[in-house]
Amino acid sequence: MTAIAEKTKFDATHESNPRDALWPNYNPPKELVFTHGIGSEVFDEQGTAYLDFLSGIAVTSFGHAHPYLVKALKDQCEKLWHLSNVFRIPEGELLAKRLVENSFADNVFFANSGTEAAEAGIKAIRGYHAVKGNTERTRIIGLTESFHGRTLAALAAAGNQAQMKGFIPTDYGFDQVQWGDIEALKNAVTDQTAGIVFETVQGEGGIRPVTQEFVSQVRQLCDDLDLVLMFDEVQCGIGRTGKLFAYEHFNVTPDVMVLAKGLGGGFPIGACLTTAKVGNSMVFGSHGSTFGGNPLAMAVGNAVMDLLLEPNLLSEISRKGEFLQSELTRLTQEFPDVVGSVHGLGLMIGLKCIVPNTDVLVKLREHHMIVGKSGGNMIRLLPPVNMCDEDIAKGIKIITCVLQELQAG
Ligand SMILES: *Cc1c(COP(=O)(O)O)cnc(C)c1O
Repeated sequence: MTAIAEKTKFDATHESNPRDALWPNYNPPKELVFTHGIGSEVFDEQGTAYLDFLSGIAVTSFGHAHPYLVKALKDQCEKLWHLSNVFRIPEGELLAKRLVENSFADNVFFANSGTEAAEAGIKAIRGYHAVKGNTERTRIIGLTESFHGRTLAALAAAGNQAQMKGFIPTDYGFDQVQWGDIEALKNAVTDQTAGIVFETVQGEGGIRPVTQEFVSQVRQLCDDLDLVLMFDEVQCGIGRTGKLFAYEHFNVTPDVMVLAKGLGGGFPIGACLTTAKVGNSMVFGSHGSTFGGNPLAMAVGNAVMDLLLEPNLLSEISRKGEFLQSELTRLTQEFPDVVGSVHGLGLMIGLKCIVPNTDVLVKLREHHMIVGKSGGNMIRLLPPVNMCDEDIAKGIKIITCVLQELQAG
């Protein structure tokens, strides 16, 4: 190792790498540093294995260091890292084609994250009307308890006042209506309304799928009034719910859909899928990204698609999801003072807690199991979609143990 390399070598011990030089906007547990992961497990500095039921928030959906994904990235690494969209990127053309072939969409824009994909979708909604000459149609309706990312328009679309406070002086051209309230939604539409945006299954706000009735009526409303309907499937898409895309559960298609998280299996990526009528309004020069659609992300995205499209994967996700949900439901009956109810679709699961969800999360971590939190005092379970039955059983065992301890008080 050279002298410079020695000096800048990453030292994983938290004492020598204090977080002081980072923004205080995150708050990870101080004493825990993970060094590597394999499949459904991550390992800390002492080599202790933690069972990962969070997958970096629905990102490492095929677990850690999946050999097929590692190989795809390594192979591309040795060929070409970056070109910019000044030149054709064949891996991106292929990934777009595969997304189109397997969805409602006709064309795709690639970004680097969920919030960027959402921004692209928001611009496309407005762009669609602008190109038609309806320049007054710019307002977009979102639903309460939504989450679309942390950039300004994405924040305004979700309308979470706590997250917007101090950053967004006006409504930014967005309206919010109560989640699931079709009458309120109809009443909120004006002749300035351009489109409607929501998550097919809410993730951050509490694990909550749209209802069939609501989503069917919204589709009808959009057809009647030429409104653009955008689904945010950044968290619930890419097989997570047992369908390739969550909207397939409802027999309703959007005009725009945004993806990110699981599509890269851990490599940063975002995608905005559109019907031709919306996508084609984004003419040359209307939008762009330096890194969006770069060869590395596209190579991994294609490899993720290979894994997703393997026969039986989606039905296995459904089977595992049903099993996990039924086991958790059993635990709500066994420990009614600790946990209340089970929510979700496939392997996107919320366990509503009676005790503070943080208590459950921390205790699970003490027992070497990683989960997330969600709105409505839920614990969020997003295991890798290829988690084996043994690891699911192991997770249920750990949860049982923790609920027993909490029930005992
Ligand atoms: C995570 C998430 C986003 C934002 O994605 P980032 O990659 O963090 O920008 C947007 N929408 C939903 C539904 C999400 O879960």
